[in-house]
Amino acid sequence: MLEQINESIHLIDLNFLGHSQAIAAYLLRGEQEAALVEVGPASTVNTLLHALEQAGVSPSQLRHLLVTHIHLDHAGALGVLMQRLPEAVCYVHPIGAPHLADPSRLIASASRLYGELMDTLWGPVLPVPSERIRVVRDGERIEVAGRTLIALDTPGHARHHHAYLDEASGLLFAGDIAGVRMPHTTYVRPPTPPPELDLEAWQASLAKLRALPIRQLALTHFGVFADVTRHLDELEHRLLAWGEFTRQLVEQGLSDEQIITALQEYGNAEMQALGVEPTSYDLGAGYQLIALGYARYWRKVLITDKPNRFGNGC
Ligand SMILES: [Zn+2]
Repeated sequence: MLEQINESIHLIDLNFLGHSQAIAAYLLRGEQEAALVEVGPASTVNTLLHALEQAGVSPSQLRHLLVTHIHLDHAGALGVLMQRLPEAVCYVHPIGAPHLADPSRLIASASRLYGELMDTLWGPVLPVPSERIRVVRDGERIEVAGRTLIALDTPGHARHHHAYLDEASGLLFAGDIAGVRMPHTTYVRPPTPPPELDLEAWQASLAKLRALPIRQLALTHFGVFADVTRHLDELEHRLLAWGEFTRQLVEQGLSDEQIITALQEYGNAEMQALGVEPTSYDLGAGYQLIALGYARYWRKVLITDKPNRFGNGC
């Protein structure tokens, strides 16, 4: 499904596992060439290529593949796409780049989380030839498809995370740093998977975004939202509130399974109070990974003797 965002930017719904509004890619069309921000997993490549055909973009016109970070739901298709798009190069954060050229550690780490579901969820994760990888630095301006995108190093969700600001429109391709939100709702869920969740870094990234002229947020999970300040405030509030909730559970010595269950009950109660369907968010950010990310973060922080940083700030 293609949805027009403005005169030259379209949202592509990748229909992940047959579900709409789970994972988006954004198509940028110029006169001579096209670019994508986010490519989704390899399991949705055919949907992606079909959408490009519908948009009248030929494989040789699609020259630039930007990913906000290398998690498989955002970038897993890159290796396969390099075989299908003869002129394409990809753009990635310096910390993510080595893992595109050699995805063995990425696959091993995802396999620990997803087990035998790996292939069904993500499809084949193939290496990207090094000569087709462009490493992007913080603040770099990238000219693609007639537009200028500014790369913004935005750690917190992952260390290898960029958001991209489209200079002309003020649209921010936010990846996961601006959370998960379904269309026609206001509720923002923080996606906090292991192993790189860093609450302080995330807050600093949100402060960095607040200082920029952002007019709309284009979320990978899912869609475009114009209430930028309110959205970021809600995300930060919940990121820290859930942090405080999970910190107490970790301090009480609860198991991972108990923390997952407790956070799910806590989060779903919030959503139900607002009349939002909880499961609509689970493909973008499920409670299991959210809870495991917080639990790992707090065990690390508590061990290194910095326990109460968020104890009164929520
Ligand atoms: Zn992610």
